Amino acid sequence: MAVVEVRNLVKQFDGVRAVDGVDLATEEGEYLVLLGPSGCGKTTLLRSIAGLEQPTAGDVLIDGHVVTGLPPRARKVAMVFQSYALYPHKTVLGNIVFPLRAAGMTRADRELKAKWAADLLGIGHLLARKPRQLSGGERQRVALARALVREPHVFLLDEPLSNLDAKLRASARDELKRFQQEVSTTTIYVTHDQVEAMGLGDRIAVLSHGKVRQIGKPVDVYDDPADTFVATFIGSPPMNLVPRDEQLVGFRPEHLLPVDALPATVDREKVPLAVDRIEYLSGDRHVYGTVTGIGEATRVVARLPATVDSPISAGETYDFAVARHRLRFFVAATGERA
Ligand code: ATP
Repeated sequence: MAVVEVRNLVKQFDGVRAVDGVDLATEEGEYLVLLGPSGCGKTTLLRSIAGLEQPTAGDVLIDGHVVTGLPPRARKVAMVFQSYALYPHKTVLGNIVFPLRAAGMTRADRELKAKWAADLLGIGHLLARKPRQLSGGERQRVALARALVREPHVFLLDEPLSNLDAKLRASARDELKRFQQEVSTTTIYVTHDQVEAMGLGDRIAVLSHGKVRQIGKPVDVYDDPADTFVATFIGSPPMNLVPRDEQLVGFRPEHLLPVDALPATVDREKVPLAVDRIEYLSGDRHVYGTVTGIGEATRVVARLPATVDSPISAGETYDFAVARHRLRFFVAATGERA
């Protein structure tokens, strides 16, 4: 277990500030997710932590020691990339033991350790196969096992599930999480997928244009976004934002409900919703329409769970409401919380 810290890290490429003054620190054994849109600097930040990129300014610390100038192998970190880069002619076992050969272990010890890692990841029965005989998810676990046998202090994972289909991705995500709970190795995980981030992270750092916009537990980032970027990047559909005077009034789609679906005792803001379209998604109804009464007339979306079954059709206007304690206020000019 280890603590990774990044202090005022800057990485400038010609004309691009890929990482623009990032401060963050993991806790020991934590699963920290770096989340942000394509090009926001996630990979560059991770590569700087790994030592594959030399920062323009700032420092990387592992367990309180500055490692900024040290080569990757001196940092006790293991990185798994999007492309797994397995040796095609070696078996699964051969791939996993490979990093141990350089470490001067006996053959028996190497194989014992490889089997331990393979069993932990549920690929113990595949040791004799070649990579081309494996599914994408299995290959990814081989790459993880190969990283695991090195007993790194820190795991750095860069979108390791991005090549998998949705179903495999969900099961691999579950495995990854259970695996991390078992080994408790501090892990930094890069993704642009907010569902993955919410499901995996102990905390999420949301990045945009090389800067950390917010860092917090999934529930905090979701419920209390620091700005409109975080509010709309996280959540699907994103948070609704309604202009009112100099502010934007934000509320999540699941908090916009027909008036009678809210308990009578809740302090609420009533909003007529002129419905123009309804979608059915996994049992929920997504109701699109224009709200008035809360600020300027704005197109929004409401997400009604299956338990709210009041009849709603396009072309009609209905009384909806949002509980007042669900409203979030932002400064229109800056997007920051008001
Ligand atoms: P993605 O999700 O698409 O992988 P990312 O958030 O990981 O994106 P980075 O790969 O870190 O983003 O890139 C951040 C910015 O830095 C981008 O604008 C990219 O074009 C630029 N960049 C990255 N590597 C280099 C490089 N070697 N030379 C010049 N510019 C680079």
